[in-house]
Amino acid sequence: MRRILVAGNWKLNGSKQSIQELLDGILAGMSEAKTDVAVCAPYIYIPLVQEILTGTAIGYGSQSISENDSGAFTGEISGSMLKDFECQYAIVGHSERRTLFCEKDEDTAKKFAAARKHGLTPILCVGELLEEREEGITEDVVSRQLDAIIDLEGVEALADAVIAYEPVWAIGTGKTASPQQAQDVHAFIRGKIAKLNADVADKVQILYGGSVNGANANELFAMPDIDGGLIGGASLKAEDFLAICKAA
Ligand code: PEP
Repeated sequence: MRRILVAGNWKLNGSKQSIQELLDGILAGMSEAKTDVAVCAPYIYIPLVQEILTGTAIGYGSQSISENDSGAFTGEISGSMLKDFECQYAIVGHSERRTLFCEKDEDTAKKFAAARKHGLTPILCVGELLEEREEGITEDVVSRQLDAIIDLEGVEALADAVIAYEPVWAIGTGKTASPQQAQDVHAFIRGKIAKLNADVADKVQILYGGSVNGANANELFAMPDIDGGLIGGASLKAEDFLAICKAA
């Protein structure tokens, strides 16, 4: 039985005070949630998150990672730096990194490799644009994004990873994929992996992301191939995030 994971992606949001309040609120309500929970913070707040969450049931990580270990890469943060602050997760290939920061499939694959090399669990985001869904090429897009990882690291690498299917048209738009639309792509992803390694396919957690909230989480997480959610907007308020954790 795969465990359910609810992971928050705070994006470029938060302050020392708001993060303290948010995590205090989540911790206070957590006893009722029976699921794995993690938050992915802006780099600069990771030490604060570590201070608050160490010894609790909530994991934490970053929203990206450098593909490089050290050297002349101004502004970057490496896997060993994240490990210094005991991060467990690193999101790679989020659609905002792909579109706004021009990260290509190959860059995502290198970041995925860097995360694994340093003992972090990559949360690999894949998903199609609205035009791509309308063109009927969702599976081709997701397949191409997964192949970049499989080609570089081998399918077995996905056993140490989490995949997040995030249709780009559903991120931050309030438009959620229907549970069946999401399930179809999750089943496609698992089926594609199963053709290469049935064991890995069976184990890998595949999260859904895209306007998940307390009202729709239950139905989404009830689908057989949906193993939790990557949550943006609704991870910024303790009450909203807890409602999703409880639905899981
Ligand atoms: C995300 O950014 O990964 C995301 C799913 O955002 P939202 O929940 O706000 O759509």
